[in-house]
Amino acid sequence: MKTISFVLPAYNEQDNINPVIQRIEELMCKFEKYNWEVIFINDGSFDNTDIVLKKLSSENKKVKVLNLSRNFGHQTALWAGLYYASGDAIVSMDCDLQDPPEVIEKMISKWETGDKIVYARRINYRNDNFLKKIGTKIYYKVLDKFSNVEIPHNVGDFRLIDKSVLLILKKMKERSKYIRGMVAWTGYRSSIIEYYRPDREKGVSNYTFLKLFSLAINGLVGFSYIPLKLGLLMGVLSILTGSGLLIYQIIDFFINNAYYHLYKWLIVVLFIFMGFLFILMWIFGEYIARIYDEVRFRPTFVIDTKLNFDENINS
Ligand code: UDP
Ligand code: MG
Repeated sequence: MKTISFVLPAYNEQDNINPVIQRIEELMCKFEKYNWEVIFINDGSFDNTDIVLKKLSSENKKVKVLNLSRNFGHQTALWAGLYYASGDAIVSMDCDLQDPPEVIEKMISKWETGDKIVYARRINYRNDNFLKKIGTKIYYKVLDKFSNVEIPHNVGDFRLIDKSVLLILKKMKERSKYIRGMVAWTGYRSSIIEYYRPDREKGVSNYTFLKLFSLAINGLVGFSYIPLKLGLLMGVLSILTGSGLLIYQIIDFFINNAYYHLYKWLIVVLFIFMGFLFILMWIFGEYIARIYDEVRFRPTFVIDTKLNFDENINS
């Protein structure tokens, strides 16, 4: 019998836990052929989340709880849950009833047809302020241009992944995790289900602008080396400007007998030198990129299926 794991980070969600588990139970009635487990990660809540979870887990053995020692933030909490998930398919979702179970139903059907990753994409905009909205738009544009994997837009961490995807994620040893980027990086066959994301019913959103910003930086730095290559562009620009001005001054000096102050000569020479400095920084950047690549221990390749190989040979 196959198992489906649900992974739900919870930070001050005392009023949401019982309703969410009820909805998962209702959903799983439709999938009696599957076993299931729910892993709640209590991310250092200071309300009664821990008490509610303790009671729930004593009544229902399918409910598992990880109490983190303090608040580590959503991505880390989610990672902890994924790490302990034992299912054949793993659904990560929020605790706040914003991720509707009907979507999970579709996710499971997609998974049954062979998709190893099923994303949920919200079609309405977040009920956010102007700054967050504009920020998100610009961010996805930048990420699209710069990132070396295709990370789908407007998908949060509400998704289903197959066990084999989780296995690869566990092999990626980076510490600052941008899980949606890592999932996309594995490159497995994926599909997207669109849904309308309702507002949070109880409690408050914990994703402040600052938290979103640091998540965004994690995504950009973790999946793009372009910022490290800026030095090359700056260097070339600086050298071209400096050389152009120097040539102009020399011609003007010899042909028109124009007089230039010493500082004017120095400035154009400085431009050229600065250009070389930028290029040196770019070279450093290239080394840093390689060091970064090495220390993350990402697998060098991911195999989807193998044909005619002896099963005993484990890669
Ligand atoms: N969460 C968490 N740790 C945090 C912040 C949030 O585990 O430090 C959980 C929270 O309980 C919820 C999910 O992450 O289940 C998403 O958080 P939230 O609803 O605040 O984000 P939003 O839906 O506004 O993006
Ligand atoms: Mg929410």
